[in-house]
Amino acid sequence: MAVMPDFLITKLDWVANLARANSLWPMPFATACCGIELMATASSRYDIARFGSEAMRFSPRQCDLMLVAGRVAMKMVPVLQRIWLQMPEPKWCISMGACASSGGVFDTYAVVQGIDRFLPVDVYVPGCPPRPEQLIRAVIDLQEKIQATGTVNAREFTDRTTYEGPTSMIKTLELDQTMVVPGDFNTATRQRD
Ligand code: SF4
Repeated sequence: MAVMPDFLITKLDWVANLARANSLWPMPFATACCGIELMATASSRYDIARFGSEAMRFSPRQCDLMLVAGRVAMKMVPVLQRIWLQMPEPKWCISMGACASSGGVFDTYAVVQGIDRFLPVDVYVPGCPPRPEQLIRAVIDLQEKIQATGTVNAREFTDRTTYEGPTSMIKTLELDQTMVVPGDFNTATRQRD
């Protein structure tokens, strides 16, 4: 690839981006009420097929778009991460709804306070629940992002080597300010590493 002229690589990037952006196959990780809106997005009224994303697959190896819709319990995190790791690169992630993006109203140790603590999220969809139009807008935004930054050999992901999500408050809190919550202390605490 390195010996190819720049203009040829640019053209290849453009073709690859065109194909990838218009054939995003979602892995629907729908755990709660947002999932109902996700289902509605595939219906004839909203017709996400217009954007090439109607092929929802329940096999991660056939998907390139992780679509998390709904709250994620702490116990589900290993499953979510395993599915993410099983998806081939290049892959993207949409966080749909307040719960997936921030825990929403479930400010509790049992619910993940934002999936970006565990996955790299490309687009966040606000709302409780977001309307199907908002999810379609997120897909369009992601398509634009892919077309603007994508490369045929996924060079844009080479920087994904370090964690860029929110940092734990444990690093700024004194020990006596930390809170230990009931349950499994290894996995259920919010302010302990
Ligand atoms: S954001 Fe609202 S609609 Fe979506 S899963 Fe949470 S509570 Fe349900």
